[in-house]
Parts: sequence; C-alpha cells; structure tokens
Amino acid sequence: MAKKSTRKKLPSKKPSVTKALAKAAKGKAAKTKPVAKQKKADAEAFDGSAKRWTAAQIDEAFRRFQAQEPEPKGELKHSNPFTLLVAVVLSAQATDAGVNKATPALFALADTPEKMVALGEDRIRDLIKTIGLFRMKAKNVALLAKKLVDEFGGEVPKTREELVTLPGAGRKTANVVLNMAFGQPTMAVDTHIFRIGNRTGLAPGKDVLAVELELEKVIPAKYMQHAHHWLILHGRYICIARKPHCDRCIIADLCQWPGKTASSVIPAKAGIQ
Ligand code: SF4
Repeated sequence: MAKKSTRKKLPSKKPSVTKALAKAAKGKAAKTKPVAKQKKADAEAFDGSAKRWTAAQIDEAFRRFQAQEPEPKGELKHSNPFTLLVAVVLSAQATDAGVNKATPALFALADTPEKMVALGEDRIRDLIKTIGLFRMKAKNVALLAKKLVDEFGGEVPKTREELVTLPGAGRKTANVVLNMAFGQPTMAVDTHIFRIGNRTGLAPGKDVLAVELELEKVIPAKYMQHAHHWLILHGRYICIARKPHCDRCIIADLCQWPGKTASSVIPAKAGIQ
C-alpha cells in the first residue's frame, strides 16, 4: 500500500499584488455590481447592520488619511471664529461652494458681531440671496450677531452648550466651530460622515448623534483633531452617495460595505509604501 504523504498541502499561490494593483488602477478590479445588489447593500448599511471594524483597522485607516493629507482644511471661507460661525449657519442645506460665492461680500462689510448688527437683516438678506433658505438664514445671522453682542461680549463662545443657544446653530454647527476655530477634537456628523459611518462599518448608527458618539468612541485620540475633515473630504469626493469611487479609495480593503466595487488599494496613494 502506498504510504500516505505527511506533507502539508501548500496554499494556492495568491494573485500577484502588482497585478491586482494594476487592475485596480485601471478600474478593472471594480466590476460594477448589479443595481439591485447595490441598493440592498445600501439599505443594509444604513440600518446600522454593517460589520464593525477592529481597532487595528480603524488605526490603519486614519494612518492612511493622515499620510495622504496631513493637514486637511475645511472648505468654507472665513477669517475668524465669527465669520466661520456665520458661514456654517449659512451652509445648512447648501453647498460650501455656494456659500463661498456669497460670503466675501458679506464679510467685507461685517466680519464682527457688532458690524453684522449694524448691517441689519435686510442688507444681510440682499447679500446672501443666492443661498437657499436665505430669508430664514438672514434672520438667524442678524439674531445670532445680536445675541453675541448682548450676552457674550461680542465673542463666539467656546462651549457646545452655549453655541447651540445661538439662532440657527445646532449641534453640528457647534461641533464644526469648536473643531475648526478652537481646536477641540469634536466630530460634526453631516450627511457624508453619516453615510461613511454606516456604509463602511466604521461607526454604524441609526441617527447622526449615534454615529457622532460612536466615532468619538472608536477613533484614536491622536487622529480626532482632523478626523472630521478627513471623513468629510472622503465622503464628498470618493465615497459619494451614488456610485462611490471604490477603485480610487484608500480604505477599500478595510471597508465592509457589501456593495463596494473594489477591495484593493494603490499602496503609494494609501501611504502604505
Ligand atoms: S470602498 Fe471606499 S469608496 Fe467604496 S464604499 Fe467603501 S469606503 Fe466608500
């Protein structure tokens, strides 16, 4: 009887990394999945059931974001905490680009709460009429400027509790101001970050507050200062709502979304080399 071999079977050869990367670079690794599968994956991700990342995966993702963009910047034009606050209030349900078209003229006339009060609601309305919901926003900007003068000595407060008392400013606005103007490690969850948190499995949550709290819990402290911007930029330009650019994504291998269309990354882009 032939003696049974005791040698362990060697694992099958992995496809060459270089080959896989070349394919991904050309978009060949990104075979588009059927629309029905994409929709199913979206629905699953948005109900917070995406598989969660490990601590090591989260650390690696932010290491790559940092390697790619060490000092990410917000895109709203501003010159001080007050103009940042106004710009963020104006950006509700509007694009940053749209807000940036209107604010230079507004801030040239009023870059402090006192000057904004003097400008008055009617003039503010005229200056921001290209922005959606401009009537309500003009009213809020005039009222918040007055409140800053009357109750905060003309200064933008540095706590969330105080910021959310200002007309037009909610929790997200407060978090953006605290992060960008005062360097606090807050996480302002907008539509992009909410999508990424659920879609990728990084921080699944039923609503924006749940995603915010989860992100604060899982992101290593050393990355919190810039995490908000990295995620917004990722959601705005790569992990977009419809047809995300998975073939250009530096966290494609970590992402748990069943609908993703690529799972390898280009090392140079991801700062892996
Ligand atoms: S692979 Fe990247 S772009 Fe695609 S869904 Fe995941 S995070 Fe978004």
